[in-house]
Amino acid sequence: MNLMYNSTRNKSGQVTASQAILKGLAEDGGLFVPERIPALDISPASLADMSYQETAYAVMKLFLTDYTEEELKTCIQKAYDDKFDTKEIVPLREAGGMYYLELFHGATIAFKDMALSILPYLMTTAAKKNHEDHEIVILTATSGDTGKAALAGFADVPGTRIVVFYPKNGVSPVQEKQMVTQKGSNTCVIGIHGNFDDAQTGVKQLFSDKELGEELRRAGFCFSSANSINIGRLVPQIVYYVYAYGRLVKNGRIQAGEQMNVVVPTGNFGNILAAFYAKNMGLPIGKLICASNENKVLYDFFQTGAYDRNRDFILTSSPSMDILISSNLERLIYHAAGNDADKNASLMRELSKTGRYTVTEEMRMAMSDFSGGFSTEEQTFAEIRRVNEESSYVLDTHTAVASSVYYRVFSKDCGDVPAVIASTASPYKFARSVMSAIDPKYKDMEDFALIDELHTLSGVPIPRAIEEIRNAPVLHDIVIEKDDMKAAVKRFLMNDK
Ligand SMILES: *Cc1c(COP(=O)(O)O)cnc(C)c1O
Repeated sequence: MNLMYNSTRNKSGQVTASQAILKGLAEDGGLFVPERIPALDISPASLADMSYQETAYAVMKLFLTDYTEEELKTCIQKAYDDKFDTKEIVPLREAGGMYYLELFHGATIAFKDMALSILPYLMTTAAKKNHEDHEIVILTATSGDTGKAALAGFADVPGTRIVVFYPKNGVSPVQEKQMVTQKGSNTCVIGIHGNFDDAQTGVKQLFSDKELGEELRRAGFCFSSANSINIGRLVPQIVYYVYAYGRLVKNGRIQAGEQMNVVVPTGNFGNILAAFYAKNMGLPIGKLICASNENKVLYDFFQTGAYDRNRDFILTSSPSMDILISSNLERLIYHAAGNDADKNASLMRELSKTGRYTVTEEMRMAMSDFSGGFSTEEQTFAEIRRVNEESSYVLDTHTAVASSVYYRVFSKDCGDVPAVIASTASPYKFARSVMSAIDPKYKDMEDFALIDELHTLSGVPIPRAIEEIRNAPVLHDIVIEKDDMKAAVKRFLMNDK
């Protein structure tokens, strides 16, 4: 029996895992969710001896049941190979009593690589299984990291094209350089005058534009998404929490069965939702700590039960978390409402109409595993300095948000339960902010000089992803108004038709 997937906004019309991955978003605008969360069928003790790839298979086979063993194992082998600069794939690094789960050893040095290394394989396999003969067009909005990770994953993959929209003034210099130097004849990178929410809303509108969909189908294309709304992003992200648990058991920090807490620097709510799924599979996780930067819409939500995006959008030094509409929260809302699509759909209608909604007390109870915290810019920079001074370990700005929240707010009350901090980016990706936090004298240095300074300071080798862009030519220089996204997509696709 296959595990089927439902839309969060509609009771009817189930699809298989591979169909959900192909479609990305459900036709009614909802997100695909599994009809139930499967239980982990290996004991916590045996996790200690499993490699990352073995753990990936053990987790993903439970969710992606219409893939054959061979298909899934092939996808995993191709994804988690020497694109990662460490055999372990995700090392768990202890510093100052906290455990940093380094999710940034892939091709683009951010945690998005964990899922986007495998998504292209899952998707092209899904296309074959479902006899989809149209060319797949990946449409993606990025707050900086998804874009490059998706481009790297899909570049020159036969049968696919990829279009990435990013906020022109809302990403770090390294993030922008990584994207605009992307090679591959099937890639297109476009800056928009607007913020991430504008880009994400624009992409969602393109998905639900029936006329555009039909026009492109006639021309031989079908849309899909590489954003974390795609269930093919979420499932691979569950793996590293299960793997982290195995490491804590292996190194004797906990006994099999004892709990760990998880702290996640959050934007679109995809990463922490994967931890929630891991917990519901039976992995012994205690608290799920959701850390926000100054765009603390999620903190306020967990505090009050009211989600309210009507506020100023703040550009911070952790741009991948500068988000006011956290798409994946919809999946949690749906589960908290007892998998009630009507209830969820009405809250989402309120969100798009008024920018706010409030959940019931009962729903809040169902979300009580989550705690929220936030970190101001000052506090984030102070945390980078503290950890560097005390442990000679350099955090990136996003990881520092989570580390700061845990250290200041939660560590006192957590007893002996270890905290696993999701380390979502290499400090090299945000060298300017990281180095200025450590010492103001770095403020006026040029980007690559800062990278060399960071290398001297941390002793960590400069990642390939950085060396690659040092002298790379700019290949994408289109910048448009946010209302012109549809026309831009058509231009890219229809040019040679
Ligand atoms: C995307 C991203 C986040 C936020 O993750 P979500 O799954 O969107 O909550 C945090 N840190 C970094 C470095 C990221 O790239």
